[in-house]
Amino acid sequence: MTAFSDAILKWYENFGRKTLPWQQNKTAYTVWLSEIMLQQTQVTTVIPYFHRFLERFPTVTELANAHQDEVLHLWTGLGYYARARNLHKTAQIVAQEYHGKFPTNIEQMNALPGIGRSTAAAILSSVYKQPHAILDGNVKRTLARSFAIEGWPGQKTVENTLWEIAEKNTPKNDVDKYNQAMMDMGAIVCTRSKPKCDLCPVSEYCQAKAQQRQLEFPGKKTKKEKPVKETWFVMLHHDNQIWLEQRPQSGIWGGLFCFPQHENDAIEYQLDLRVIHEDTIKRKQTLNTFRHTFSHYHLDITPILIELTKKPNVIMEDNIGLWYDLSDPKKIGLAAPVKQLLQSLPYELKYIQGNHY
Ligand code: SF4
Repeated sequence: MTAFSDAILKWYENFGRKTLPWQQNKTAYTVWLSEIMLQQTQVTTVIPYFHRFLERFPTVTELANAHQDEVLHLWTGLGYYARARNLHKTAQIVAQEYHGKFPTNIEQMNALPGIGRSTAAAILSSVYKQPHAILDGNVKRTLARSFAIEGWPGQKTVENTLWEIAEKNTPKNDVDKYNQAMMDMGAIVCTRSKPKCDLCPVSEYCQAKAQQRQLEFPGKKTKKEKPVKETWFVMLHHDNQIWLEQRPQSGIWGGLFCFPQHENDAIEYQLDLRVIHEDTIKRKQTLNTFRHTFSHYHLDITPILIELTKKPNVIMEDNIGLWYDLSDPKKIGLAAPVKQLLQSLPYELKYIQGNHY
């Protein structure tokens, strides 16, 4: 054990988090579920989702047997939906190929969809005390500062250096506590913008602190301006129902339900495609444009609300779609801006019907 890991473990005994829901009665299933939910998401946000998932899917087999729509529906609000699709795929592999038990071998664990090297290590060290190092965002930050590792950790060479340091300092014994302590350190003490060096158990070894350069580590990626794209949502409304279509599994909002979309405001093509005749359109209203931001670009969305006097007889045979009843919403996965629009729709309708017609 190094002096660094010794100090971390001692700190954990007094200050580490030990009462989080996924730290009780640990199984590979519950720890895996929490690890996936915690990727890019804060603990306080994850807790209610974790409880809801476990209540609905007490075992990995029950999750595997669920319809993807229900999984995406329960995930709605957590973001990064690829995680939910991978969660479902992994559950199916574990149920079918591993008879409902997660593999205990790190290579097999790492090969499951959505489980990277650090997540596989976190699960196996936490549940079975296997001595694997972890390197999530919090750990990268703490190590980059403690050992003054220059460069952006997204670069392979920088990441490899951090892995070497992580492995060197991960103890054989109490690995579950050490890994948890490292995650807690990053979340509570060595935080992104205000590290609490006065409370830090490794401050005497910390090279960034010695150089008074704490906020320079980890190195940043050079920032590029995000491009702005535009799209128009075609909201077909009839009798308190809205037409939604399921998006292809790959690409943005994969597998989620969304309004028909068009890349400019000439939406006649979309109407033709759905066999909607001009004489069935009661009113057409362009709603306010709003922005949805992805990791790589901004998307400016302009919704066009179209009220129909009757439902079309045929709506896109090839697409999977449904009339979403606003007074009795079906449990389906919705893209975040779609959910937002559906919530505000009753007010929009009231406003349009009350003020303009
Ligand atoms: S001394 Fe400060 S910068 Fe260094 S590891 Fe501790 S909290 Fe982070």
